[in-house]
Amino acid sequence: MSVIPMTNDIILEGIDLTKHFGGGGLLSSPTVVRAVDGVSLSVQRGETFAIVGESGCGKSTLGRLLLRLIEPTGGDVRYEGKSILGLNKSEMRKLRREMQIIFQDPFASLNPRMNVGDIIAEPIWLHGLGRGKEKRERVADLMRTVGLIPTHTDRYPHEFSGGQRQRIGIARALAGDPKLIIGDEPVSALDVSIQAQIINLLEDLKQRFGLTLVIVAHDLAVIRHMSDRVAVMYLGEIVELSETDELFDNPLHPYTQALLAAIPIPNPMNRQPKALLQGDVPSPAAPPSGCRFHTRCPHARPLCKEQHPALEAAPDGRKVACHFWREIQGAGAGSISAPSQSAALSKRLALYRTWRERQDNPVTTSP
Ligand code: SF4
Repeated sequence: MSVIPMTNDIILEGIDLTKHFGGGGLLSSPTVVRAVDGVSLSVQRGETFAIVGESGCGKSTLGRLLLRLIEPTGGDVRYEGKSILGLNKSEMRKLRREMQIIFQDPFASLNPRMNVGDIIAEPIWLHGLGRGKEKRERVADLMRTVGLIPTHTDRYPHEFSGGQRQRIGIARALAGDPKLIIGDEPVSALDVSIQAQIINLLEDLKQRFGLTLVIVAHDLAVIRHMSDRVAVMYLGEIVELSETDELFDNPLHPYTQALLAAIPIPNPMNRQPKALLQGDVPSPAAPPSGCRFHTRCPHARPLCKEQHPALEAAPDGRKVACHFWREIQGAGAGSISAPSQSAALSKRLALYRTWRERQDNPVTTSP
């Protein structure tokens, strides 16, 4: 992971982005689902920015809003300083060349009736980047770049493995010479052994082509080694935004602490506790009042139910949305409202940290 120093070279910005589904016209559901609610973030050129959270937290919707694959209910998206919401179809098509997406399920995202050569060539043709021999050479180059055999252009998606299909998706995303790629859970549908290969490939391509990556993921372990900064989402809101190392070393928000504590530790002696957080994720159609995490938070107090915590800057520049993050840090994550749950979380977090330190600094003994 490369640490990107904070600069003003912002390539992509979401400003107070909101996406509500339903509750509108005659044919839509009367229930309003608040998938994304007032999210602001900025992505610096050349960094890998991760958006993480449990399923249903709104992270994939946020990724699509940032590319304007869906229209926001409110807020703005700026690419290289300019709002993209006012662009017409043809202006958006030109811009899409620079902003690409890699989907979670490589099989579902590839047209089964097109051969791989045509799938990768389509953006080249669409954006007028080459024809005939030039186009074929470019496709062969892209296939080599992502680790595929260039003579397999006439094969169809079903003839490839899951990892190879994701490589085809990456080659297609690269075909238009993008500046920015959003990966929506790019490895979660793949076997663990293949995940590392695809993560390494994305990192190599980022360096080689000077790309900016935005990775949407539910698994913190996946993004730890590849991201520079992380935004943690819960029920449509960002609850913590931090540089990756700081987030893993010293998470401020109780939800981030719970996510880290839930990372599996491969040691049969350290069995996963049954429930690190109380209850299920509430419905985004009826988010809890005040702090949306209060129904599951081991540190919740009466104020949490009443007042919504703003995303505020901590002295070290991180951002956190919790009324009591200072006290929680100072008390070593002890809790007054759910002490046994809090103790289980703290213990698990300590175990995770110890295990991680051992992974990062293995003790080598001479034979
Ligand atoms: Fe927990 Fe309250 Fe902080 Fe929300 S504001 S995370 S409920 S302590």
